[in-house]
Amino acid sequence: MTNAPPEVLTFGCRLNSVESETMQRLASSAGLCDTVIVNTCAVTAEAERQAGQAIRRLKRESPHVRIIVTGCASQIDAQKYAAMKEVDAVIPNDAKMQAESFTNLVAAKPSPPKGGRGLGEGGLGCLYPQSPPSPQPLSPQEGERGLAMQRAFVQIQTGCNYHCTFCIIPYGRGASRSTPIDAITAQVRACADKGFNEIVLTGVDIASYGQDLPDRPTLGSLIRRVLQAVPTLPRLRLSSLDPAAIDEDLWDLVAQEPRLMPHLHLSLQAGDDMILKRMKRRHSRDDIFRLCARARHLRPDIVFGADIIAGFPTETDAMFANTHDLVEKCSLTWLHVFPYSARKLTPAAKMPQVHGAIRKERADRLRALGERAARRHYESLIGTTVKVLVENNGIGCTPHFAKLKLQGQARVGGIVEARCVRGENDAVVAEVVKVV
Ligand code: SF4
Repeated sequence: MTNAPPEVLTFGCRLNSVESETMQRLASSAGLCDTVIVNTCAVTAEAERQAGQAIRRLKRESPHVRIIVTGCASQIDAQKYAAMKEVDAVIPNDAKMQAESFTNLVAAKPSPPKGGRGLGEGGLGCLYPQSPPSPQPLSPQEGERGLAMQRAFVQIQTGCNYHCTFCIIPYGRGASRSTPIDAITAQVRACADKGFNEIVLTGVDIASYGQDLPDRPTLGSLIRRVLQAVPTLPRLRLSSLDPAAIDEDLWDLVAQEPRLMPHLHLSLQAGDDMILKRMKRRHSRDDIFRLCARARHLRPDIVFGADIIAGFPTETDAMFANTHDLVEKCSLTWLHVFPYSARKLTPAAKMPQVHGAIRKERADRLRALGERAARRHYESLIGTTVKVLVENNGIGCTPHFAKLKLQGQARVGGIVEARCVRGENDAVVAEVVKVV
């Protein structure tokens, strides 16, 4: 036993990272030591494979360490992880934000998985108890690996009410639950008071925000309330958005609110109507064309990012060409491309599969398309002066989410004006001209 402070190993999405920070603090304040918490992800088979590999390696290299597993993969199949000889306890996804989950462990009364049963036991739909996410204790200025925190992530929602045929998330995180507006506003204010200049509102399906709350506030009305309540906050950014659910309040803010960053990351997934139908997505190809046109009409400098799955079951060359064509015609700039990964028990896993080599080849072609679009965006910045959020490692982030190589002194987390002077390799060099 070395009494080393607890560590958290995080796999998967930004929400998992935010929650890992909280677990780190809860475990430390509970007095847990010589313990590693593995926060798993179930979105791809690869993410699960990596978590399993990490657990075995951890125990091999540090036999005295206690291994606690949580996250979506262990929520969906708790028995699989509980059966691993390396694993000391499994904390259900919903209990991982609760202090007593860690004080129980200190008292060496590892709690068996409560309520949540492995899918093996109860089959599909074994959704977890539905408590709304409680606001996370405020992140210190100190982030992972000692890097100063450049922006803060505020969780506004978790879970999802939809069941896209490729997606395992609802089985890991349950139905959509929203954090009350006052709690979010208080957290954003606390972040701003702590010196954060940019807040990212995050969740699983943030476009569903408020549907489970009295008065059913929309995401747009939440943003309006937050920005009114925290006039000192210069930049608010949104995490991934379902294109089928952008509300009118949000459209107004896109048009009129300069503190809402002109960068929308769309959970697009595909650009072919038959594939979107088989994915059970709620938007069509034409909806995306209309959305991009409306956004550009309201905010001409707006930039889009998108999540896209390449090689979804039954996708033909012609269907893939429709996706490729949509990305090109809508000039989507920041692409996150995933080769389709079959998830056990999801309907898509039972559909005729596209060969792995074809999935990879299509993903490579979409990534190349994205790189060309990003390069065009960076080239358009040369000669302009932009306000950037100073990140670690001398990087500056523009409102459109472009990353610039900064020259000149600037405090991490601060905002400066920088003049884009030249392209260098794949980056744009920008000279700091003024601290804002
Ligand atoms: S909207 Fe679809 S893809 Fe997104 S979390 Fe819900 S089920 Fe998954």
